[in-house]
Amino acid sequence: MKTLLLTWWTGYIWSHNAVLLLEQWYQVILFDNLSNSDKSTVENIKEIAASSLLGKERVERSLKFYEGDLRNTSDLEKVFSENTIDTVIHFAWAKAVGESCEKPFEYYENNVVGTLNLTKVMEKHNCKNIIFSSSATVYDPSQTPPFSEETKTGNTTNPYGTTKFLIENILRDLATHADFRVINLRYFNPVWAHESGLIGEDPNDIPNNLLPFIMKVAAGELTELSVFGNDYDTVDGTGVRDYIHVVDLAQWHLSALKHLESNTTHLLYENINLGTWAGTSVMEMITFTEEIIGASLPHKIVARRPWDIASAYCSPDKAEKLLWWKAEKSVKQAIDDSWNFIQQKKS
Ligand code: UDP
Repeated sequence: MKTLLLTWWTGYIWSHNAVLLLEQWYQVILFDNLSNSDKSTVENIKEIAASSLLGKERVERSLKFYEGDLRNTSDLEKVFSENTIDTVIHFAWAKAVGESCEKPFEYYENNVVGTLNLTKVMEKHNCKNIIFSSSATVYDPSQTPPFSEETKTGNTTNPYGTTKFLIENILRDLATHADFRVINLRYFNPVWAHESGLIGEDPNDIPNNLLPFIMKVAAGELTELSVFGNDYDTVDGTGVRDYIHVVDLAQWHLSALKHLESNTTHLLYENINLGTWAGTSVMEMITFTEEIIGASLPHKIVARRPWDIASAYCSPDKAEKLLWWKAEKSVKQAIDDSWNFIQQKKS
């Protein structure tokens, strides 16, 4: 049985992924400092996994949780010295672009220094397989979508994007000079709601990302959505993004893992876009939500955010061919699942 380490595993977001990996007979170790999540999620995962085909006893044996911080090498040392880890799935830490502009040092330290600590300890324990959660923000904003993996990267507009760009480059060097085997999965815009309605995103504070904000307005918790700019060169002037469903995202991670394991070449370094080919504008997101909730969504047009780009969507051709997985869930399903989650949470 292979052992995986899931770092910066942010609770509910990756619960579904952890269950999927357990079902595939992996030994799963979760590592997190619990800054964005709650230890009770570990128990929820155990419960969901045990109630599927796995059974309580096997889940107890196959899932471990370590509370730790990537900025503390000793926390990492403990995990690696107590386990033989085959592959690390290095998830995202905080994902808010706006927040990264307010707290750049926090982002550099958590993301870049954290990754350096992690890879150093990996090297020491001869674990060289890594799947990294990268992002569409690595693409040069002057480029025109759809972005392929060959599209120019760099010139990032915010510290969050810069950390992703830097980490990709560090991992490329480690692949070339230290025999690391690397897959950078470049997520476009994930929507974190599972179809079961049990797992989803509902931050306690005011959300930074579009869909969680829309959901709070739909639920009456916030009065109106601010649409950041309607004078972009897009279909209706509002920002366009490529929204992906967490269920598809989890499948892509599993496929990436299988690709890493089945590929016997010594050298492996891949950047892979995870998206749908389709861009959806903010106004389209509002219209789709109104159709789903059966009510109008209060909104007003305000100024652009300084770091925003007009449009970001991708060609996921490489993911489809190399990872054998094509996004199955539409943006409307993602909104529907988000709404379902919010309603179940309230009831
Ligand atoms: N957006 C908006 N109002 C909000 C949040 C986001 O109009 O309250 C827009 C934003 O300008 C962008 C799109 O929605 O065009 C997606 O923004 P998000 O922050 O979710 O993702 P990112 O910009 O990081 O791709």
